[in-house]
Amino acid sequence: MTDQHGTIDSHPLDTETYPPSAEFAAQASLNDSSVYWRAAEDPENYWAQEARKLQWSRPFTETLDWSNPPFAKWFADGTLNVAANCLDRHLAAGLGDRVAIHFEGEPGDTRTITYAELTHEVKRAANMLTSLGVKQGDRVAIYMPMIPEAIVSMLAVARLGAIHSVVFGGFSAESLRARIDDAQAELVITADGGNRKGRVSALKPTVDDALALQNGTELSVKRVLVVQRTGNDISMQEGRDLWWHEEITSYDGEHTAQAFPAENPLFILYTSGTTGRPKGILHTSGGYLTQASSTHRNVFDLKPETDVYWCTADIGWITGHSYVVYGPLANGATQVVYEGTPETPDWGRWWQIIEKYGVTILYTAPTAIRACMKVGRQVPEQHDLSSIRVLGSVGEPINPEAWRWYRDVIGAGTAPIVDTWWQTETGAMMISPLPGLTTLKPGSAQVPLPGISIAVVDDEGNAVDRGQGGLLVVQRPWPSMVRTIWGDPDRFVETYWEKFGDQYFAGDGARLDEDGDIWLLGRVDDVMNVSGHRLSTTEIESALVGHHAVAEAAVVGASDETTGQAVVAFVILKSQQHLLTPEEAEQELRGHVAQAIGAIARPRQVFVVNELPKTRSGKIMRRLLRDAAEGREIGDTTTLADTAVMQTISLRMRSDQ
Ligand code: ATP
Ligand code: MG
Repeated sequence: MTDQHGTIDSHPLDTETYPPSAEFAAQASLNDSSVYWRAAEDPENYWAQEARKLQWSRPFTETLDWSNPPFAKWFADGTLNVAANCLDRHLAAGLGDRVAIHFEGEPGDTRTITYAELTHEVKRAANMLTSLGVKQGDRVAIYMPMIPEAIVSMLAVARLGAIHSVVFGGFSAESLRARIDDAQAELVITADGGNRKGRVSALKPTVDDALALQNGTELSVKRVLVVQRTGNDISMQEGRDLWWHEEITSYDGEHTAQAFPAENPLFILYTSGTTGRPKGILHTSGGYLTQASSTHRNVFDLKPETDVYWCTADIGWITGHSYVVYGPLANGATQVVYEGTPETPDWGRWWQIIEKYGVTILYTAPTAIRACMKVGRQVPEQHDLSSIRVLGSVGEPINPEAWRWYRDVIGAGTAPIVDTWWQTETGAMMISPLPGLTTLKPGSAQVPLPGISIAVVDDEGNAVDRGQGGLLVVQRPWPSMVRTIWGDPDRFVETYWEKFGDQYFAGDGARLDEDGDIWLLGRVDDVMNVSGHRLSTTEIESALVGHHAVAEAAVVGASDETTGQAVVAFVILKSQQHLLTPEEAEQELRGHVAQAIGAIARPRQVFVVNELPKTRSGKIMRRLLRDAAEGREIGDTTTLADTAVMQTISLRMRSDQ
């Protein structure tokens, strides 16, 4: 277990496996494993075939142009309209009456929107945006709650060949302005407010503040378009601000979509900033839509005629882009869109929505699953969830404990779980089981999707052996790959390509097990080095969550005089465990980790806390915990969902030491 090759010491977590049921496999669209080797033989041809399932105005003749790496071009001589692929195409196929969106507002208001209606709304919005001067290549910032107009806005921008930059509605005025400035957006689309946790969360006032900031840069924004959602009192600036519902009445639903080149930029999306200054990830049209739709179809075994799909992600994240907007709509799926939070008015809300709409495919994040586990299985058990047939997970490694709960309690002990690894930069899923084919292993994302080449390598870029850990790389270009960092191609090259040349460096650690399945071990920045052993945060956290008293855990490496780094753990106990004193919990859990993984991983300290610092997409910000554990000033907390949580943790730790 030495560290000569820059690999990660690793420990098998879970060996229990779950093959697809005969019944599921029989009905699955992909149930012949030859898809893997056929794609591997000629990945470009595989992707070209997937791309031809879209509607091209001018068919492409060239698949991949990699003559100027790492700047890829896919299907470059083809032209298409992304929005028409998500809308008009389905109408032409006679599917106009199919429900596109079952919208559920947090206060309980609902809307059912068919593909014909959605198309009509997008065409009107496209006409409205045209008259506001939006044209190909222009940037439009979207700062919206999860309401249908958010999706309509994205599609209307796409329809005009312009570029959207969706900024999550929870971000501050400073964060919003920084993103507006970076993209030089001329139009902002927002709403008066959205409903969150039973209250109105105002949005327009934040836009006003963002635009009023005197930060030394000239403001690019000329117009602000405001959707009326919550009716809260807001001010409208004459000559700049317009009400959506007043403007839209002047425009009809006649709009012919123009075709744009496959490499026309589609959107900029800033990564969440778990690790530092946000990067404007640029995605383009044909390749992105190909992989978003293909993976959405294959990984969820989508049957667009009968499935009711629900992805709980906000459109402010890449998951909302690829698996609420572009993937599902390109596939003509029927989906649920929910505005609010899972605990409003109570923790039964999600399960009630699933029962009401007969949701068959649910795609959510481990953090949400752990929050539901903490509340207890008696809540979902009050609802009929028998419609569920596929479950998905994204955003972090899912702990085996959470995986089993998800399958047993939400999936009736039978639904396959697809643990999908991908990033803002990859645009679409890269590693995931296929539910009709893969024998599942809780906690492992397992295998690259057909047409994707991934390896786990050491610091020199050499593939590690089975049973070893290292760094995750993508070995060949893929259609939905990031094309550049907006305005900063040098940073693009530096961040992802400098380390291994023409292999994409994902920044995540991973382990290959004896079968060659991939286990994600967390970000490379989070890997710890204890007495010369490289340990993964993910594995230690999974061991902690595997203890019956623990609801959630975060682990960091803090500098230590004797061992270089020492393991410091922060845990949230399950509600019924508050009788355990912090000292008892610490002693018990240190021993538990030592037993589960080995003495080397025994935490130096275990702190019981009520909350963990998370980004607004629900990811633990370990760098802040590392600051606290090392007694440093806490770093930049602007992307935290709740900025007070770090103060509480710092105080807690000081009183303990
Ligand atoms: P930033 O790059 O700004 O720090 P971020 O990496 O959190 O932010 P995303 O692109 O939303 O932004 O997240 C991608 C990351 O999430 C991956 O690199 C990986 O660390 C983690 N991740 C996503 N899905 C999975 C999964 N199924 N298993 C393990 N990790 C996952
Ligand atoms: Mg990242």
